[in-house]
Amino acid sequence: MAPKPAPICGQYNKKKEWRPTVFAYSEDGISVHVPNVYAWVCPEDAEASFTHETADALIVTLRELVETAKRAKARRSVLTE
Ligand SMILES: [Zn+2]
Repeated sequence: MAPKPAPICGQYNKKKEWRPTVFAYSEDGISVHVPNVYAWVCPEDAEASFTHETADALIVTLRELVETAKRAKARRSVLTE
């Protein structure tokens, strides 16, 4: 279910398509990727536009992933000291 009229890619002047893509996020040198997230995706250059609703829903999951990654990183650096 697409939420709005499709946005137009500014570079190729084409309608974006509502389909699953990868949501990438990085914080403090840690990057996380969430696959199969629906967004408006440009058919030419694959540039994704995420809706605010999607971003709001994802941010909680992303924070947890980042915290888990940070803890894992901290554990590794303790072990190598
Ligand atoms: Zn584009």
